[in-house]
Amino acid sequence: MIVVQKYGGTSVGNLERIENVANRIIKSKQLYKDLVVIVSAMSGRTNELIERAQYYSDNPSKLEMDKLLNCGEKESAALLAIALISKGYDAVSLSGKDALMLTSSDYTNAKIISIDNSRVKQELQKGKIVIIAGFQGADENGFETTLGRGGSDLSAVAFAGALNADLCEIYTDVDGVYTTDPRIEPKAKKLDKISYEEMLELASLGAKVLQNRSVELAKKLNVKLVTRSSFNENEGTIITSEEKMEQALVSGIALDKNQARITLRQVEDKPGIAAKVFTTLAKNEINVDMIIQNVGRDGTTNIGFTVPQSSLNQALDAMRELLGANALIESDSEIVKVSVVGVGMKTHAGVASSAFLALANEGINIQMISTSEIKISLIVASKYAELAVRTLHKTYNLDK
Ligand code: ASP
Ligand code: MG
Repeated sequence: MIVVQKYGGTSVGNLERIENVANRIIKSKQLYKDLVVIVSAMSGRTNELIERAQYYSDNPSKLEMDKLLNCGEKESAALLAIALISKGYDAVSLSGKDALMLTSSDYTNAKIISIDNSRVKQELQKGKIVIIAGFQGADENGFETTLGRGGSDLSAVAFAGALNADLCEIYTDVDGVYTTDPRIEPKAKKLDKISYEEMLELASLGAKVLQNRSVELAKKLNVKLVTRSSFNENEGTIITSEEKMEQALVSGIALDKNQARITLRQVEDKPGIAAKVFTTLAKNEINVDMIIQNVGRDGTTNIGFTVPQSSLNQALDAMRELLGANALIESDSEIVKVSVVGVGMKTHAGVASSAFLALANEGINIQMISTSEIKISLIVASKYAELAVRTLHKTYNLDK
C-alpha cells in the first residue's frame, strides 16, 4: 500500500512540531509499506522570504524568487529527514526537482506538466521513507519553480496521482471539513465524507482547508483525499467522488463576507447592454459572481451583480465611465453571500423553497438569489450574516 501524507506549515511550525510529525510518520510506517511525505515550509517562512526580497525590490525577478521561496520547503523536508534518521529510521529528503516534477516556466505560479515517478520509486525500493519538499518543481531548462501560494497541497495530490497511491492524507491544524464555520454555529459537525464538487464549493466559499487547485486535481486523477489534524488522533474528512457517497441532501452552509453589490438602474433595455457592462468589468479583471437582470419595462431595465469588496471602487469607476455621469448606479458593501451546498439537491426538489421560508420566518430579506446544480447562494444584509447561517444550518438538520 502506498500512502502519501502532507503536513502543512503549522504542523511543521517549529522544531518540536517537526519531531511530533516524525513520530506520527514512524507510526504510519508500521501500517503502510511505502510512505511518501510532502511538507510545506514552516509557518510564516514563505512570507518571511518574500519580505527579504522586498528589501531590494517591489518587483523582484520571478526566476530568482522561485530559487528563494523553494528553500522554505527544502528546509522543513531536510529537518524532518534528520529527525527521522536520528530516531533510527531510514529517510531521505528530495527537492521537487530531485523528485522529477516537471513544470511550466511560469515562475512563482508554475503549472505541473508531469511527474516521472522513477526517482521516488527507487528510494522506496531501498526501504526509505521519502520526504519531498512541496510547492516546487523545475522547468525544462532545469530552473526551479514554485506552484503558487498554498501549492504544497497540489504537490501532494500530484505525487499521489503519479504514484497511484491508495490514499493522500492532508494534515493541517483543523480536524476536517465542517458543516459550517464552528465560530458562527458551535453545533457545526465535522463531516465524515464529502464529494470533490461540494468541497470545491465550500472551499471557494471560504472554508479554507484545502487549496482549490488541489481538489480539482484530485477529482481529475481520482485521488482519495483525507484531511485531518496533526495535533490529535481524530478521524478527518474523506473527500471522494460522488458515487461513493450516501447522498446527504445538504452538506454545508458557507459564508462569504467579501462581496459587494452594484445595481445599474434604468439602463436601456436593448441588445448589447449586458455585453458592454460585463466586458468592461472583465477588461478591468474584476470577477463578477452573481448577476440578475429583471424583465424590462418602458424600455429600461435594472442589472444587479456582485463583485469582490476590494474591487468595488474600481468597478464603480468603470461603470460611471461606461454609462456616463447621469447614470443611476447604486452600490452596497454591507452584504454577504450565504450558500447552501449539497450534491443531494440534484435529485431532490424543495431545497431552495425551505431556505426562503426559513429566512422569511426570521425576517431576513433576500436581495439576490443564484443557483447551480449543487448550490443555492443568497445575498442578504451583513447584519444578518450569522443569523442566516445558523437558521439554514438548522433548517437542513445539520446540527443533528
Ligand atoms: N509555503 C507555501 C506557502 O506558504 C506553500 C504551502 O504552504 O502550501 O504558500
Ligand atoms: Mg497550506
